[in-house]
Amino acid sequence: MDNIDSIREDFLREVSTAGNLKDLEAIRLRYIGAKGLVSSLLKEIGKLPQEERKGFGARVNELKNFVESTIAEKKEILFAKETEMRLKSESVDITLPGRRIPSGSIHPVTKTMDEITDIFFRLGYEIEYGPEIELDKYNFELLNIPPLHPARDMQATFYISDQLVLRTHTSPVQIRTMLKQKPPVKIISPGTVYRCDSDATHTPMFHQVEGLLVDRDISFEDLRGTIEFFLKAFFGQKTRTRFRASYFPFTEPSAEVDIECQMCMGKGCNICKNSGFLEVMGCGMVNPAVLRNVNIDTEEFSGFAFGMGVERMAMLKYKIPDLRLFFENDLRFLRQF
Ligand SMILES: [Zn+2]
Repeated sequence: MDNIDSIREDFLREVSTAGNLKDLEAIRLRYIGAKGLVSSLLKEIGKLPQEERKGFGARVNELKNFVESTIAEKKEILFAKETEMRLKSESVDITLPGRRIPSGSIHPVTKTMDEITDIFFRLGYEIEYGPEIELDKYNFELLNIPPLHPARDMQATFYISDQLVLRTHTSPVQIRTMLKQKPPVKIISPGTVYRCDSDATHTPMFHQVEGLLVDRDISFEDLRGTIEFFLKAFFGQKTRTRFRASYFPFTEPSAEVDIECQMCMGKGCNICKNSGFLEVMGCGMVNPAVLRNVNIDTEEFSGFAFGMGVERMAMLKYKIPDLRLFFENDLRFLRQF
């Protein structure tokens, strides 16, 4: 009986000094674990004389319950204390600035190409793509540029073989489309083109957007209206345009289109060589020879085509002074888009 009292006193003293859950668990095991002090007392019961067993057993069980409930209470207190400490030490300072995840931006050439395509898309044009490695036949011959034609000199060509070239313009997409589709044809074709040319205003790889419309009763006025609508939508409603007669083998008649110089707004500057205008694209009525090449009846159908350099359009719209900026991958430049 004395032993029970001293165990209880020791237990109370130890519990009162337990500072954390780990210490408390150690105390629990020492007293009521399988080999704990209280558990050992229970095993003593069998050794006692019959008449003492009942009283002793009741005392030991009472001690065991006391230990259990005391530990449970203490556990709650310690758990609350530890949770509070953890919350304090792990608290998040929501006033700290976050770490930014760097985000990319659309390349100005892609952005400009999308803007151009989008305007024609709204006019009902479908988007067509073609291969960058192209048959000479589609890049030249069927576009009314036979071998030895002087127009081949206008486009310094990368030849892969006698029959294969890196396409020098997006125009072969016109041929590919008309070969697989009967009129009406109404397409816009954005893409990469190649020419062996490299200086301050030329790069060996650049981008074009090409358009083609073939249907009944298409006249030069339809072409003019379409181009003027496009240029106003792209450069702004007040943009003045003008058409100049020109020559391309695949269109007849052909024209080059100028817009009011975006640098001086028509007043005259060294960019526009004081003319007040800048050339932006070429266009014309599809040469009947081209339509015949793809088996379209020229008595019934006529069409127009146009093409523009994307880098040039971007330079004029965003007032970018040097073509090479597009390809240097300088983030300070690219981030502005
Ligand atoms: Zn100017």
